[in-house]
Amino acid sequence: MEKLEQLYEGKAKKVFKTDDPDVLIVDYKDDATAFNGEKRGTIVGKGVINNKMSNRVDQLLEKEGVPTHFIKELSDRETAVKKVDIVPLEVIIRNVAAGSFSKRLGVPEGTPFDEPTIEFSYKNDELGDPLINSYFAVAMKLATWDEIDTIKKYAFKVNDVLKAYFLQADIKLIDFKIEFGRYHGQIILADEISPDTCRLWDVHTNEKLDKDRFRRDLGNVEEAYNEVFHRLGL
Ligand code: ADP
Ligand code: UDP
Repeated sequence: MEKLEQLYEGKAKKVFKTDDPDVLIVDYKDDATAFNGEKRGTIVGKGVINNKMSNRVDQLLEKEGVPTHFIKELSDRETAVKKVDIVPLEVIIRNVAAGSFSKRLGVPEGTPFDEPTIEFSYKNDELGDPLINSYFAVAMKLATWDEIDTIKKYAFKVNDVLKAYFLQADIKLIDFKIEFGRYHGQIILADEISPDTCRLWDVHTNEKLDKDRFRRDLGNVEEAYNEVFHRLGL
């Protein structure tokens, strides 16, 4: 497979065409952004960690019946993926109150839920990824009801699989964001699952092992990413 011209440079990854119209190559950068791009920085080694973690998780999810875009890891930072038509929704699952949930609703960070929640944001940087519901998504023709049903089913399955995966590394999965796409008419999991897109807390101390260390200037950012990488045996 041949890597051709760059199609897109996002905040965390570059995306390249290949000689196969169904295949893209994603290249994970060390660039970090937060608050819709207002805060910028570098997390040394992040690209390698996110690439490897996302690929390992995708392979695990495939085994558990969730189809993903993963094809093949090409290098430390590059992976061949199925080219999808991205559904412009950020799908967020939460097991414990944190972040925007706590801020918006006044529920203290760290409050556990009896059952996970799901929410959707409209993926649109100019609008700041506003929170919407499934009726908005259908009205705006971002997805069909069938697609929303499939996305919900897969998202909760991802949560079940990931909770167990992290727990064996003494990590609590607080919340995460995922994206889906259409590949030859089928909904599959796309984008990445990494400490950039998940909240991960140490089971014993509740120490934050994710991008909140960068967002909130907590220090030891690289150390936290490395800790997750090593605990997961990646
Ligand atoms: P952003 O666009 O938010 O800055 P990234 O830097 O992660 O994010 O860029 C990756 C882009 O590629 C995202 O817009 C994401 O939706 C898109 N993407 C991820 N996986 C795929 C895929 N399999 N096919 C097509 N696009 C993808
Ligand atoms: N998230 C993400 N990308 C976004 C927004 C959120 O990956 O553009 C992740 C974030 O890392 C967290 C979860 O989604 O794991 C829930 O984020 P929240 O809504 O609490 O937003 P934040 O506190 O980041 O504003």
